[in-house]
Amino acid sequence: MIKGIAASKGYAIGKVFVHEEVEIKIGSETVDNIEGEKSKLQEAVLKSKNQIKKIKENTIKSMGEEKAEVFEAHLTLLDDPEFVGAMEMEIDNNKSNAIKAVDDVMNTFVMIFEGMEDEYMRERAADIKDVSKRIIANLAGKDLSSFAIAEENTIVVAHDLTPSDTAQLDKDKVIAFLTNIGGRTSHSAIMARTLEIPAVVGLKDITKQVKNGDIVIVDGIEGLVIVNPDDNVIEEYKNKKQAFLDEKEELKKLIDTKTKTRAGKRIEVSGNIGKPQDVEQVIANGGDGIGLFRTEFLYMDRDEMPSEEEQYEAYKYVLERMEGKPVVIRTLDIGGDKKLSYLEMPEEMNPFLGYRAIRLCLDRPEIFKVQLRALLRASVYGNLKVMFPMISSLKEYQQAMDIVSECKAELKEEGKSYSKEIEWGIMVEIPAAAVNADELAKHVDFFSIGTNDLIQYSLAADRMSEKVSYLYDPMHPAVLKLIKMTIEGAHSQGKWCGMCGEMAGDEDAIPTLVEYGLDEFSMSSTSILPAKKIIIEC
Ligand code: PEP
Ligand code: MG
Repeated sequence: MIKGIAASKGYAIGKVFVHEEVEIKIGSETVDNIEGEKSKLQEAVLKSKNQIKKIKENTIKSMGEEKAEVFEAHLTLLDDPEFVGAMEMEIDNNKSNAIKAVDDVMNTFVMIFEGMEDEYMRERAADIKDVSKRIIANLAGKDLSSFAIAEENTIVVAHDLTPSDTAQLDKDKVIAFLTNIGGRTSHSAIMARTLEIPAVVGLKDITKQVKNGDIVIVDGIEGLVIVNPDDNVIEEYKNKKQAFLDEKEELKKLIDTKTKTRAGKRIEVSGNIGKPQDVEQVIANGGDGIGLFRTEFLYMDRDEMPSEEEQYEAYKYVLERMEGKPVVIRTLDIGGDKKLSYLEMPEEMNPFLGYRAIRLCLDRPEIFKVQLRALLRASVYGNLKVMFPMISSLKEYQQAMDIVSECKAELKEEGKSYSKEIEWGIMVEIPAAAVNADELAKHVDFFSIGTNDLIQYSLAADRMSEKVSYLYDPMHPAVLKLIKMTIEGAHSQGKWCGMCGEMAGDEDAIPTLVEYGLDEFSMSSTSILPAKKIIIEC
């Protein structure tokens, strides 16, 4: 049994096909005809562009627009003068042959991206490799598109699967894949989840441990691979697979169900999103609304703050798409582990206890107001609720609401409308707010418990540290007491209480949270249906 990272749920039993990377020798010969070499490069870049356009079209057909976005990014890269220009410069300055020029530039860019702190950016090194290897293959006259899989029930095993490899997988034949490298947020993992085929990644040397024709079992739930299992094990996994599929089918029946407990209490099960387009997954999984829109993602991976207009469009889109269902938008929660390249932040010993979220917004009202104005203007398009992150005391909430009032007055002056029905709430993610919930509840419209942070602050266990992860326990009695106090505090003032931290989707925790009287659960969209099932059985 080989253990890796579970990247996409499900079970598969099938035959191995080891995907060999096309090997191309990178020679160090120099060239004399510099212009000739540069035009060879241009030709290969053009050919690559045409190939990627085709893959993009096929991906739109098979997986939809959103999944094809990665190829748009690849095309942009090929148009980027810094990228292709750097290759030309290699030829100009060092008389490098075109293949070596591409390889050198690729290695430099990959090194920069792999050195970045942000996991998402690190994973983007894979895009650079994918595009560069395509140019190299075209320069060498090799065909990258031959991903011909003849047999059904094939399990593809590869060092890594590039987005273009994954897009070319024949879904009628490939039932799972395994890779040596990658994490849960690598493209191949994301694609596997979209295709709904099991995948285990980060298996280190799986390409060496199996060979073509081996029978393997892929357990995408536990992240396990079993090579050449005996009949008993195969039988066991066939049963597991059937049970998994039956349950998945059964869960689909709950898409339109309005979740109620056995006692008849209606509970909302909503989805967490980071980008406006993520609403589609929430809708497809039967979410009752959006319980957390992490707006900081609108501010990330760019060079400047998003404008009021841009934000207004994003919020309006989500509100309209949700057609009157509740949409809880959290104001900017930057700082801690989330940094913006264009915003200077102080060096701190403990950024998680430092200048972040509402603290930063209250200190920089010129940034905060842009977002609040966009939210107010968008509010007329749906059922908007706004919450502030990292509130520790009533004063912060009041200061935030004073700025909201300023924005309302400005908009009125400008003749711009906003809804009078917006609810204003806070995230309860600092123990002080939980302990003081009954007081805070007198002033706010609702609470949403952010357990990801509440747990780390209560137990003094950094949520990012593997070393202390054994302490990070959602079911710790102290954490449970804080949650209970928060819900009771809200109810004592006739207010509702939701939860948008990971714990809301934790199947083991849900019955306890229902028992405490939690009114709304918000989670990643794939957890919505399993959560609904547990709640109706409570
Ligand atoms: C939380 O802290 O539980 C939460 C939902 O916010 P984030 O994970 O974005 O910090
Ligand atoms: Mg938080």
